[in-house]
Amino acid sequence: MTTNRGRKDVIRDRMAATGESYNVAARNLKSMKDMGATREAVLTQRWRPAESLDAPCPCGGTCEPGEKCGRCHARYRHVARTPGSTTDVETWADRYECTGCAAVYTLTVVLPGRPWGVAETVVKGGAAEPVVQATVFPGVVHPLLRPDPASGED
Ligand SMILES: [Zn+2]
Ligand SMILES: [Zn+2]
Repeated sequence: MTTNRGRKDVIRDRMAATGESYNVAARNLKSMKDMGATREAVLTQRWRPAESLDAPCPCGGTCEPGEKCGRCHARYRHVARTPGSTTDVETWADRYECTGCAAVYTLTVVLPGRPWGVAETVVKGGAAEPVVQATVFPGVVHPLLRPDPASGED
């Protein structure tokens, strides 16, 4: 697909610039990209909820303002963000907690360009259908998947 073609061009550019072999250039580019993406992903997940509802939410301003609680009429605030899918790496789940009682709710959000991991299509077994397999970036806590300690090794 187009993304693959783009990636190959980038690898060839690096090969020309550094004299590296295709595999080495690909690996170095991948680890550079992963490092940048990992930092972003960790920042997307790790922040402290705002002390007050008057302060902007530290998650980066991509959440919804907290709703009014139907039970106690206090406001909800955004308290956490975790990966919200096992295959869609740009899908996150935002957790809101009521500031007045124990009520919580979760909203699914898509953050383009801020993935929590890398999705790859892999074929398992001989004639099996290709499946999407996601690898969580190191440092990101996924409620359903674990970080892959072998990532970077093909
Ligand atoms: Zn927020
Ligand atoms: Zn409440």
